[in-house]
Amino acid sequence: MKALDELTFDNRFARLGDAFSTHVLPEPLDEPRLVVASNAAMALLDLDPAVAQTPVFAELFSGHKLWAEAEPRAMVYSGHQFGGYTPQLGDGRGLLLGEVYNEAGEHWDLHLKGAGMTPYSRMGDGRAVLRSSIREFLASEALHALGIPSSRALCVIGSSTPVWREKQERGAMVLRLARSHIRFGHFEYFYYTKKPEQQAELADHVLNLHYPACREQPEPYLAMFREIVERNAEMIAKWQAYGFCHGVMNTDNMSILGITFDFGPFAFLDDFDAHFICNHSDHEGRYSFSNQVPIGQWNLSALAQALTPFISVDALKEALGLYLPLYQAHYLDLMRRRLGLTTAEDDDQKLVERLLKLMQNSGVDYTLFFRRLGDESAAMAVAKLRDDFVDLAGFDAWAELYTARVARDGDYSEEQRRERMHAVNPLYILRNYLAQNAIAAAESGDYSEVQRLHEVLSKPFEEQAGMEQYAQRPPDWGKHLEISCSS
Ligand code: AMP
Ligand code: MG
Repeated sequence: MKALDELTFDNRFARLGDAFSTHVLPEPLDEPRLVVASNAAMALLDLDPAVAQTPVFAELFSGHKLWAEAEPRAMVYSGHQFGGYTPQLGDGRGLLLGEVYNEAGEHWDLHLKGAGMTPYSRMGDGRAVLRSSIREFLASEALHALGIPSSRALCVIGSSTPVWREKQERGAMVLRLARSHIRFGHFEYFYYTKKPEQQAELADHVLNLHYPACREQPEPYLAMFREIVERNAEMIAKWQAYGFCHGVMNTDNMSILGITFDFGPFAFLDDFDAHFICNHSDHEGRYSFSNQVPIGQWNLSALAQALTPFISVDALKEALGLYLPLYQAHYLDLMRRRLGLTTAEDDDQKLVERLLKLMQNSGVDYTLFFRRLGDESAAMAVAKLRDDFVDLAGFDAWAELYTARVARDGDYSEEQRRERMHAVNPLYILRNYLAQNAIAAAESGDYSEVQRLHEVLSKPFEEQAGMEQYAQRPPDWGKHLEISCSS
């Protein structure tokens, strides 16, 4: 276990130099205070969880103090936003403080979001508000606990600094951890600004540090792109299987490591709705729940375009062709497991599609349905769940197919079935209304609800005593909360 001053830095991205990022010091927030910290994220840095309670912790992660070895940098990138190219974006309110490596030899980027203005702030104020910082913290750690690749979050630090959004709010910072903060948009920036040398430097940086096994392949850059395609297909399959809607899948928000990244107006589905749009500024539904699948491919094509100086167009096209079949395989595998199936049959995809259509038509709670399906034998479970459906004849027909399919799958006890299904079907997810309750309490100075919700969501598959209120459908007020993009 380490103390805060024992972290070891090795700032590999900063060493790439001024063409890639700009040195900027964080702008401190007034009266910093710890809102919440993640012990699991602390462990990634070998930090003793007790250090979160010391005053220096809040000072470090609110811009008041800095390690001597840290080299805070704002990274430059660009990206396609809602389909259109924006030639320059970059860290407008976040700083890469440095890279720390732990005892296992893993490097982790320390990225402080909400740290003040940078050369890339454009019209923004460089700040993040408490509300959005709490949402990013809870989502990162909750996705990780569900087994969905994501950036992580160490802590949220609140303050008394006023920040203007639709109304006056308070500034906060979230300390984000990731193995890299390099986005698709980094490659696009050097491609569209026609800086081939720097682009090659960036490609080698990513290859050497994050895809070293690809160096052994005959075409290392192609092997790397293929792996990026594979990782994205798997990540998006997990989003779809668990009902996660990202909301702003611009290429500047897509990680080169295939992790969920840059949380804005995201949401988990309550009722199943394939057409759900969580970002209320997304008028055309470009990033609706079901569109995430083709948009994943669109984004990879944008990255492929930026890689044309290194890889032939034919090879890029072939690699892009892997996306959909891989996505489908991962998705179906996960959905089979969510249904409690251990074998594969040709009609399983249809079984899933039919169920989703019925759920859509009846507004069935996506998370609770699967959890309850595993509570008892297939026949008993469907008999109880039947009441949630409007089209009873449709559901009965599905239930008959399903129970027959379960019988063919194997002969296991109710106990075995429950254990297996509960291990993949969470009881607790980050519902928007739960986040909203925790935010409302935090805005009035009570952080206990954020901390409790974080705790519950860190073990989403485990039923926790006294936590029934976190495993309910939303009340009416909490059903269709509009989440603002201005964060
Ligand atoms: P996002 O929608 O959060 O992914 O941000 C898109 C771009 O806008 C990125 O370059 C951000 O750094 C920048 N940005 C977002 N909010 C602010 C802000 N309050 N101040 C400065 N830049 C911002
Ligand atoms: Mg972003």
